[in-house]
Amino acid sequence: MKEIIFASHNKGKIAEIRQILAPFQIKVLSADEMELPDVEETGSTFEENAALKALTIAKLKNTVCLADDSGLCVDALGGRPGVYSARYAPNRDFEKAMEKLLKEIEESGSSNRKAHFSCVLVLGYPDGSYQAFEGRVDGIIGKERAGEGGFGFDPVFIPDGYEKTFAELGSEIKNKISHRGRALQKLTAFLKDKGF
Ligand code: IMP
Repeated sequence: MKEIIFASHNKGKIAEIRQILAPFQIKVLSADEMELPDVEETGSTFEENAALKALTIAKLKNTVCLADDSGLCVDALGGRPGVYSARYAPNRDFEKAMEKLLKEIEESGSSNRKAHFSCVLVLGYPDGSYQAFEGRVDGIIGKERAGEGGFGFDPVFIPDGYEKTFAELGSEIKNKISHRGRALQKLTAFLKDKGF
């Protein structure tokens, strides 16, 4: 079994990455459980933030490290909250964040409900080099919250081709089509190719 550190303190993301990498015999050690520092996201793009997190921990632990940065981009809000998605939630309260999002879309006066989740996964090395893998899923923002599964904005995001939210669809479907699932498919193809 190979081991990889995932530089995240987000329990929802850690669970998803573990589930997706399990068939590849990759054990995911999380920065949260290893009590590693939470790296501040000072970049202005998903890639910058993911690289910052992966490289900080890779250098600190002198080993290869994985990190992701992701967010929800809403067309009616000019792409917001985007890289600021985690900070959009008052005190990390996503019930309040979803209420705020639905209200903001309503107040924008736009009938466009289109949105997408983006994710950039970065595999960082202690020498400062890194490899990035990108994934995206398009969909719409529902009129109200629905479902109990997933995390973050899942109860308001309905992916294209479905009539239910990510929170209702469950992890098996979500992991196959989500932004993080798609970025991870690229990462696992790369790891296989490198004989990791
Ligand atoms: P960060 O990547 O830690 O900056 O956090 C990204 C934020 O985007 C999360 O806190 C969620 O608000 C949102 N987000 C990212 N991926 C997902 C997802 O798969 N479902 C729901 N919300 C997500």
